[in-house]
Amino acid sequence: MAIKRPQGTQDILPRQTALWQYVEEKIRSLCRRCGYEEIRTPILEATELFQRGVGMETDIVNKEMFTFRDKGDRSLTLRPEGTAAVARAYAEHKLYGQTPPWKLYYLGPMFRYEKPQAGRFHQFHQFGLEALGTADPLADAEAIWLAWTLGAELGLRGLALQLNSVGCPLCREKHRAALTAFLAPQSADLCPDCLVRLDRNPLRVLDCKNENCRARTAGAPALPDYLCPECREHFAAVRSYLDELRLPYQLNERLVRGLDYYRKTAFEILAPGLGAQNAICGGGRYDGLVEEIGGPPTPGVGFALGLERLLGALAEQNTTPSLTEPPCYVLAALGPEARRWSAGLAAELRAAGFVVLMDLEGRSLKSQLKFADRRRAAFTLICGEDELARGNVLARDMRTGEQREIPRADLLREMENSISKERRVKSKE
Ligand SMILES: [Zn+2]
Ligand SMILES: [Zn+2]
Repeated sequence: MAIKRPQGTQDILPRQTALWQYVEEKIRSLCRRCGYEEIRTPILEATELFQRGVGMETDIVNKEMFTFRDKGDRSLTLRPEGTAAVARAYAEHKLYGQTPPWKLYYLGPMFRYEKPQAGRFHQFHQFGLEALGTADPLADAEAIWLAWTLGAELGLRGLALQLNSVGCPLCREKHRAALTAFLAPQSADLCPDCLVRLDRNPLRVLDCKNENCRARTAGAPALPDYLCPECREHFAAVRSYLDELRLPYQLNERLVRGLDYYRKTAFEILAPGLGAQNAICGGGRYDGLVEEIGGPPTPGVGFALGLERLLGALAEQNTTPSLTEPPCYVLAALGPEARRWSAGLAAELRAAGFVVLMDLEGRSLKSQLKFADRRRAAFTLICGEDELARGNVLARDMRTGEQREIPRADLLREMENSISKERRVKSKE
């Protein structure tokens, strides 16, 4: 029986990879413009990193990790997210000893064992960034601006930015007391998950997707009403930066990130038309994370953005860009002698930067021309025995059908001229 790809994974085939590369290039360009540098961490990490850095109480760590023991009986996990590893690398390489802040981004596959469904995969891809070593609210606004602008530059319409502040442990303690007092009398009506949350981390009850739980928590004490002066000031500063950057946002008191190391800013960017999976990006400030995994106290802010969801939103809105490829040349050789000679010519032209394709199946001239048409070649360079004897190639313009012989010695220059002419015409259009 033929072997199939593992459940929950996907092959990204050539037509699609062009789109992925386009999006990735946009990401890299935007990060460069904002002073973020790329970091690449391993796909495998010690399981403990995620237990401490993502949290034992989260679904990710409880139910969704690909964890196994290696031959040395160490527990390893395929990374389910990117932030913990960036924080680990930051602490491990003592980057804090150098001038802060560190503005880092990553791009790559993540792994979660979830029930496969539309928009969810066991292996999926994230773009994320982290600004480490800064508590400045401008860093929060800058990160949000970057995520928003990526969507805008890709042509996504109808994006919505939701914003909240989850305060600091001080604010949360006061809020927790009020929230527990509010929820306790109706605990019998909460879902089983929320019953556990009520005991361990009642803030996360606000986050429950269960309709009944949502109804029960309508009118529950809202965290922003319990912010301490410092957190209130930070929140106000983030909002005033967002106003200055002309980013429209909605305040959402239910937007919580329940873990202890999350502080202050929490945000999500939603795209229309993705159903229940409509958040393409989520992030916030996590001033306690680096310390949690054994580094020095370090403020930080960042986000993660799902590339499958981003591409899904683009497809949904029909905003998939038409990708222009550089003009391509087909080198059609006839006969073994001409073929050998053409192989050398193809190498020369490729080294000079041209896209040159040659037939690899010994096809007739007619089918090589058909192949050139299919590949939308600008020119077919024909080399038969006669042309070879004269040291020329016959260049056929695939749009007009016009043909003319060009000495091999002049070919490169002619091609460079015709390309720059084409560029001039294009830029005039
Ligand atoms: Zn506070
Ligand atoms: Zn619930």
